[in-house]
Amino acid sequence: METHNEKLPDPREIERELAEFLSKKFGGEVRVISPFSFPQELREEPPPEEPLKEEKKTITFDLKPEELISYLDQYIIRQDEAKAILATKICTHFNRIRRAEEFPDDVQDMVGGVKNNILMIGPTGVGKTYMIKLIAKKIGVPFVKGDATKFSETGYVGGDVEDLVRDLVAEADGDIELAQHGIIYLDEIDKIAASRGMIGADVSRTGVQRALLKPMEETDVELKVPHDPISIMQEIDRFRKTGERDKRSINTKNVLFIMSGAFGGLAEIITKRLTKQRIGFGATIKESKDESEILKHVKSEDLTEFGFETEFVGRLPVRAIFDRLSESDLSEILRNPNNPVILGKKLDFAAYNISVKFEDNLLRALAAMAFIENTGARGLVSAVEKALLIFEKRMPSTDAKLFPATLSVLESPEKTLEIYTDSEHQEEVAAVFDKLAAEEKASIKAYLLSNKKVLSEKHKLNLTPSRMEIAAGFYVNRIMDIGKVIEKIKFFSDEVKKMELDFYKKHDINIVMEDDAMDYLIEQLADNDVTPESLSKMLSADFELGLKLVREKTGKNRFFITRSALLAPEAYISVLIKEALSVKSASERNIS
Ligand code: ADP
Repeated sequence: METHNEKLPDPREIERELAEFLSKKFGGEVRVISPFSFPQELREEPPPEEPLKEEKKTITFDLKPEELISYLDQYIIRQDEAKAILATKICTHFNRIRRAEEFPDDVQDMVGGVKNNILMIGPTGVGKTYMIKLIAKKIGVPFVKGDATKFSETGYVGGDVEDLVRDLVAEADGDIELAQHGIIYLDEIDKIAASRGMIGADVSRTGVQRALLKPMEETDVELKVPHDPISIMQEIDRFRKTGERDKRSINTKNVLFIMSGAFGGLAEIITKRLTKQRIGFGATIKESKDESEILKHVKSEDLTEFGFETEFVGRLPVRAIFDRLSESDLSEILRNPNNPVILGKKLDFAAYNISVKFEDNLLRALAAMAFIENTGARGLVSAVEKALLIFEKRMPSTDAKLFPATLSVLESPEKTLEIYTDSEHQEEVAAVFDKLAAEEKASIKAYLLSNKKVLSEKHKLNLTPSRMEIAAGFYVNRIMDIGKVIEKIKFFSDEVKKMELDFYKKHDINIVMEDDAMDYLIEQLADNDVTPESLSKMLSADFELGLKLVREKTGKNRFFITRSALLAPEAYISVLIKEALSVKSASERNIS
């Protein structure tokens, strides 16, 4: 790391620099006119309070690799090997940090110990960034993404890397401690490999690699940006308020570096090595058309041969190979209920009060179009946008509220648009829409069924068949991913439990909702118009007096409420009273 500004300039000097900067940028017309008031020179005594002192927070991380994998499974199609490697090593990284905080005396920094920085190899649009973003979100650490090619362009490599580290602080909303546990993701790292046979550009490329070595291991990065006017102004402001100079810095010891690239040509290097080694691999590898199968044999020496410095390769001990996605993978991605492209498109139309349902056939056709583009799942966004644009442009100016996106959207867009926006055809359009909604519901139910265990455990909610039915209905009527839907259902079930408690507190009577009653109430809550308060009131109105009467007659204080009791409370109460009376009269008969 470069050591800029070991000694901070005097505030007046900063003012002068700032004035110079402004006049250089805007000409002589712009001047600094007494912009800030400074404290009397350097104060001897400490400032009254130290508001900016960072509090030491401990990491509360306790996720296990398999939990993280099953979380990723809900969003990411294929890439099982990469999922396993990334989830495991990232979990271990954070669990080690947590343990180090719990047992600070244990050996932490063995000589030669290496951080689990990760190298991801795979073509574009196959889920590399997506996977890291999901993991960072799940773990709750800040994440920044940079592009290695930008580094060599600016020729100010050290500063660029430091900027990324500083960006982590911004991502962590100024929480330095959290930023020190962030993830820095650098894409297109293969572009900073010194290409064999090319001299000129290579100097800067290896320069970039060298500049990354220290941050990847451990270094301190000053929080303020040297020579940046905004940073200087913030510094002046801070100094004015506290009389202190900003010496805060971010240490990168626990920052995880993840690098990725397509690494064209690496497979040939590996094949060559394997053939040379004559261990029998060569022949089979050559026959293998699947590049990612070859890449899975990657060794450090191949990466060195590719153009990386040995030290650089050594700091990326974990390697994950991503598979190219097939056409059917792309179609599965689009049909995944958590897919952001489809959810996003639904939101786009909802912004105009138009509901969209997608037909499977259309999604398959879009996947086929995207596959031809050879940009992995990235092609899906453009395929979807291209197909729907004319609908998104024209439908908002019409009265159309339903958009069943069938294959005809691709095959005959103009004609389809005409039908969808024609008031005479609305009944027909609604029928197609309802059919697609029913298909969507069925596919969501199937999805819930196959992910039942993971979802039940994750959300601590027993996913009974009827609850899955409610969840699927909720998904169809709203725009949410499955996780959010189940979260909502869980929230509603907790609300019902609160209602039971509320009833007990108010009336001193225990009511226990049977499963079907619970589901009925959840269903009511899932319908937007009903609030827990109104349901609570309804329970009191329907059951309070009747149950109190039964309690008087029988001394019973605990009642099991079924769905039919909720639907016909009077009948339920009268049965209870009849039972109470018959028990009573029987006992009276016995006495006489
Ligand atoms: P890259 O591998 O180039 O980093 P991204 O991860 O940015 O590609 O993928 C672009 C988008 O494509 C993601 O935001 C996601 O919506 C989708 N996507 C890519 N790969 C997958 C996958 N394996 N499963 C599900 N969605 C994917």
